[in-house]
Amino acid sequence: MTDFLALPRWQIPTLPVAGRAERFPVRRIFCIGRNYADHVREMGGDPNRGSPIFFMKPADAVVTDGAPLPYPAATKDLHHEVELVAALGEDLKPWGFAVGLDMTRRDLQAKAKQATAPWEIGKAFEASAPVGALLPASAWDGPRSQTIRLLVNGEVRQEGRMDQMIWTLDEILAELSALFTLKPGDLIFTGTPAGVGPVQRGDRLEASVEGLPGLAVGI
Ligand code: MN
Repeated sequence: MTDFLALPRWQIPTLPVAGRAERFPVRRIFCIGRNYADHVREMGGDPNRGSPIFFMKPADAVVTDGAPLPYPAATKDLHHEVELVAALGEDLKPWGFAVGLDMTRRDLQAKAKQATAPWEIGKAFEASAPVGALLPASAWDGPRSQTIRLLVNGEVRQEGRMDQMIWTLDEILAELSALFTLKPGDLIFTGTPAGVGPVQRGDRLEASVEGLPGLAVGI
């Protein structure tokens, strides 16, 4: 079959793994919305648990550490959302963890919300998922109470702790598993703490989760 593709084969998106030559192949990207109470409040929402909100990004939206992050089309309000990212292995448990950015065209997301329309135009655009190098799960004692932080041009914009998640990673995986057949290579973006805001061309973003490799991208 592979000899008879109608188009040239494209590369599977991959992430670097800290301290190893091998790379992690990315299958799908699942994201949870509204998972830190202080962020839910800043967006004008009610942080009661209710049902989790999920959305997706295409696998090839990943951008690796150090790569340029192009300012996307059709927005005047590109926002940063720093998040813990879990990468699923063959046993469908976290194989590794990284810090990521759920880049958001906030003006387009707001328009979609207003129209009760899907969020893709705000969330699933090209290069909307910068992710740092993965640290194998066996090398990280989390998620527990580690700090998650985002700096823009050296200034702290977002800060929170892993134990402030409304839905824990285990709960997110259980909820997702009831909706989808999770597969090896799937990434889970676990939500963002308060402090989201716009970035401009020329800004430098530095994302971190305590104990994981950092992520630095320039817009
Ligand atoms: Mn998010």
